[in-house]
Amino acid sequence: MIPAIVYIPDGRPWPGQLREVALDVLELRPAEVVLPEATVRDERGGQLFNGSTLMFDPAAGGGPLADAVADRQARAFGVTNTAFHVQRALRFASALLGHPLPRLLVRIGMHDQPRRWRGGHYRLPRPSLTDEPATLSCAGEVHLGGGAGFVPAPDGSRYFHAPAHNAAIICHEVGHHLCRHTADFRLNRLRPPEQQTNRKIALDEGTADVLTAILLGTSDIYGWHRGTIAEWDPRRRKLQPRWTMAHFVGGRDQDPHADGTVWASACWSARERVIATGADAARFDAALLRGMESAGADAARLTKDALSQRRQFSRLLSAITRADPGLAPVVLTAMAEHGIRPGASNAALEGAARADLTGEVGR
Ligand SMILES: [Zn+2]
Repeated sequence: MIPAIVYIPDGRPWPGQLREVALDVLELRPAEVVLPEATVRDERGGQLFNGSTLMFDPAAGGGPLADAVADRQARAFGVTNTAFHVQRALRFASALLGHPLPRLLVRIGMHDQPRRWRGGHYRLPRPSLTDEPATLSCAGEVHLGGGAGFVPAPDGSRYFHAPAHNAAIICHEVGHHLCRHTADFRLNRLRPPEQQTNRKIALDEGTADVLTAILLGTSDIYGWHRGTIAEWDPRRRKLQPRWTMAHFVGGRDQDPHADGTVWASACWSARERVIATGADAARFDAALLRGMESAGADAARLTKDALSQRRQFSRLLSAITRADPGLAPVVLTAMAEHGIRPGASNAALEGAARADLTGEVGR
């Protein structure tokens, strides 16, 4: 165990509270932290670590306006903060699933040319990924940009938006790794390891978002860096009762994040309802993860039909209720309030939810 300073999110729209934690580290390399379950590396290199602790100042995110010492501190903090949240997320999932997940590689400071990048993504090897490194881990990689632009600092000054300092972005991308190795919405396990697909569907984005909400303990997942976007605006991606299948759009050209917010909001409502019955929140979390795993464990072949089935919200809902039948009545009631029922396609649920809305307006 190595002492480390990281952000612990507290549900408020800021990076969280700086806290000292103990990180389970196998090895410290100059710009890389090797954990038992993941490797976290700053691709910009240099000597970030040379001691036996991981106690660094976030230095307001560092960035191009910071001096070299502050920027190095911020990068070292970013690797440390990312390692902590990656380890926490993977251990949360493996404890509920009862087995470890495949090893994850996290690379920070990626895709910073020609423009700086403040985002993150999850990548699997596929043919002709011209904008990606020549070799990607077949188990999956998280890439985080080196940062761009500014967000408000806790003291009201400005903070360089380095995604490695933002637990929500880190947890969301780890969420895609959990999806890949459980529900496997794109049936990547049936494709050659070097020819997987990175296309994300709404369930993938929504499940990554609700896992982030669970890990951070807030429905306003992106409240820090999207704090200037109104809470009623779908781009805020705050999980709320208002997002129902009436807002679902679907289709290949649609941004899967917006449709995913409907699924994530419904899961969050179900979890809140489970907690309200006096049950432990972990019981819902276990049903969600085990449901994801069983939804990915069928004997499907790589066909258009099988891929289409995996896009249906109702299919994953049924898997969650099968994972813990005792929770099913509560979960189904909460999901129904978002227009999600078992046994119907996304399009049918969308149509029914819109008809309900029209009926209400007409009354
Ligand atoms: Zn995503």
